This record gives sequence, C-alpha cells and structure tokens, in this order.
Amino acid sequence: MQIIVQKFGGTSVATPDGREKAAAKIIQAKNEGMSVVVVVSAMGRQGEPYATDTLIGLAKGIEPAVAPREMDLLIACGEIISTIVMAQTLEKLGHPAVALTGGQAGILTDNHFGEAQIQGINPDNILQHLGEGKIVVVAGFQGITAVGDITTLGRGGSDTTATALGAALDAEMVEIYTDVDGVMAADPRIVPEAKILRELSYQEICEMANQGAKVVHPRAVAIARDKKVPVKVKSTFSEDGGTLISNGQASRVITGIAHQAGLGRVLVKAKSGSLEPAEEVKVFKLMAEAGISVDMNAISGGQVSFVVKQELLGQAGDYLLAQGFQVELVPHCCKISLIGVGMTESTGTMMRVVEALHHGHIKLLQTVDSEITISCLVPEEQMANAIKVLYREFGL
Ligand code: ADP
Ligand code: ASP
Ligand code: MG
Repeated sequence: MQIIVQKFGGTSVATPDGREKAAAKIIQAKNEGMSVVVVVSAMGRQGEPYATDTLIGLAKGIEPAVAPREMDLLIACGEIISTIVMAQTLEKLGHPAVALTGGQAGILTDNHFGEAQIQGINPDNILQHLGEGKIVVVAGFQGITAVGDITTLGRGGSDTTATALGAALDAEMVEIYTDVDGVMAADPRIVPEAKILRELSYQEICEMANQGAKVVHPRAVAIARDKKVPVKVKSTFSEDGGTLISNGQASRVITGIAHQAGLGRVLVKAKSGSLEPAEEVKVFKLMAEAGISVDMNAISGGQVSFVVKQELLGQAGDYLLAQGFQVELVPHCCKISLIGVGMTESTGTMMRVVEALHHGHIKLLQTVDSEITISCLVPEEQMANAIKVLYREFGL
C-alpha cells in the first residue's frame, strides 16, 4: 500500500469552494493509486464560528476559568467538526471516507494539556479503513492520553499530526496544503514579491520554522527530519509545484528571512556599578522559577539582556524589580532572523546586515547569531521595513 498524507490548513477548509479544491487534490492522489490520509485543521480563522481562536474566545468568556483539560476538550472540537464536513464533501463526490478524531487515529500523547507531545501512534485503525478503500480524514492538532483525555499539540499543531502520521505510516510523501504557493524567502504578507524556495533541506526549514516562519510548525518539520519523511508545502488554491523539503544539502549563504513579533526586551542593571556573577545567575534563576522562557540572552559589560513574550514583559520586570535590580523594559519588539547554511563558509554577512539596517534608519536594539542564523531585534513598528531592507540587500 502506497500512502500519502495530505494536510489542509484552516483557510483551505473554511469555505465550500476551498473544500472542493481540497477534495480535488485528494481525489487526484487516490486516482493515481495512493491510499490517502487527510489531516484537517479547524475551519477558518478568528471570527469564523468553528475556528480555534473563536473557541478560545468562547472559553475566555466563561467563569470560572476553564481548566486546561477542559480547554483542550473544547478546542479539539474545531478539528473534529472539520473532519466530518470534509468527509461528507468526499462522500458527496462519490468517494467513501471516514472521519476520525486524533485518538481514534491512534495518536497517543502525554498529558501536557495545550502543548502535548506525541508519545506514539498506533496506526491499526487507519490501516484498516485504508484497506477497505476509504479515504481517512483525521482531526489535526490533537491526541489522546493513556487514560483517555483529549489533548492538543500547540498552536499550528495540525502540521505535526501530518508529519507524525507520515512517519508512523511510512508514507511516500506528506503534503502540507495552505494559502500560499510554498515556503517563500520571507513572509509574502510582508514582502509580496518574495520568491518561492523550490527545494529546502530539513536543516533550513527547521531553522526557518524555529525562527518564526509560520508556514510550517517547528515540531512538524523536526519529526520529518528525524524520520526522513519527504514533505511538500503547496497551495490548495493553485497548481503550483510548491516547495520540496528533503534531505538535500544546501549551500546558499542566505536561504530566507523569518520573523517573530510580539516580543519585549528586558535590560537588567545593578543599582550601582556592574552586576556580580551571582546576580547574573539570579536574573536567569528568577525567570526560570517563574516559567518565563527567555531568548536572545546576552551578558555583557556587567549587564544582562534578553527578550520574552510581550505578554510576560510586565511580569518579568516586576519579579526583577522586587529583587532590587534596576530594569529597563522595551515593549513591542520583533526578532528578524536571516537563515543560511552557507553563512558559516562566508564572511561579511554581519557587516551587510548592520549596514543595510543603518541605511534603512532601522533601530537595532540587539543582535545574536548562531552558526546558520543572524537575528536582529528591532522595534515592531519598523518590522516590515527592516524585513524589506534585508530582503533587498541579499537579493533574495
Ligand atoms: P494554515 O492555516 O494553512 O496552517 P498558516 O497561517 O499557519 O496556514 O500558515 C500560512 C501562512 O504563513 C501564510 O499565509 C504566510 O503569511 C505565512 N508565512 C510566514 N512566513 C512564510 C514563508 N517564509 N513562506 C510562506 N508563508 C509564510
Ligand atoms: N487549529 C489549530 C490552530 O489554529 C491547529 C492548526 O491550525 O494547525 O492552532
Ligand atoms: Mg498552520
């Protein structure tokens, strides 16, 4: 049995037109002799009745506050609704289909509600339905614990369902269908002329996803990389060939630009003079104890700086002030990252980044780099400009 997994995102399944286009891709794969497993996201985006954000909004209006277990039970409904609507679309077109929840599809997770990790997949149920000639439509973004509680895999997690099923079913290919033609060198919402990247290595896409390129979920591509599952990112709404992600070796100096908005910067100083080594430790200990994740960490000149999610900035500042530190908070920042495996072999990239941003009158708050990434923190209001400036500078 040759299996293909096709995942359709929220915008792809939101309207009858989108679902018919999705169904055409599914039926085409079936007609080519593939056994098809379809993974669907909740229908539509914020404001639409069954979208994940709408369900989260519903929960926020309930008192007392909805507990994490019940929250997952609620938001998992969005994807379950979608499976039934999609399965019926296929049935109407004459193709037998069955709708399965994540649990019914055999996806077992831990009980970390809201960010559950897949612990194993029992593919028997899916294989049985495929053996009967049915198209199997699985609810993305969810699983079930050993004691039968429904869990969700974190925002954007339907991609993870797709690649995890692809690995468990030894699929020939996982296709991620979305509302853009593939992975571009920058977010096309910001750089409309951004070019599509026809081929990407696992290393490149993992770094792009980790640095905020929203088009695929970081955990999804990590699973694909570890299990060597080939992935294509394509549009539901076009016939474009999309982006192929596989084991190839990349040598480009710069592959693309990813960004993460909604960050705040924390700068910690001593009341007088420099921070003592023990105080530097204390800063990070306080954040760890508060469960606040820190990024772009820098210790320099007797000061400590790092970024946190914008919504945690006030809390981070309060903890530090309460311990007698002098704190400077910079709200509404954006981290812009240039990603390129070939960066290690070349020189002058940092110079070009700094020069281009200065020429563009972008305020550079902080930089950090790794072997294949240079990240720059800039004010969020300058985000689009900074991305465009860097896009032009590197001729992506
Ligand atoms: P889906 O609902 O299909 O999962 P998402 O909204 O999660 O869709 O992801 C698709 C969006 O990702 C696109 O509409 C695009 O704006 C955004 N995006 C961010 N970075 C990139 C990139 N480098 N290439 C393509 N799309 C990107
Ligand atoms: N519906 C979920 C979300 O909006 C999962 C997904 O779309 O991948 O995060
Ligand atoms: Mg997505």
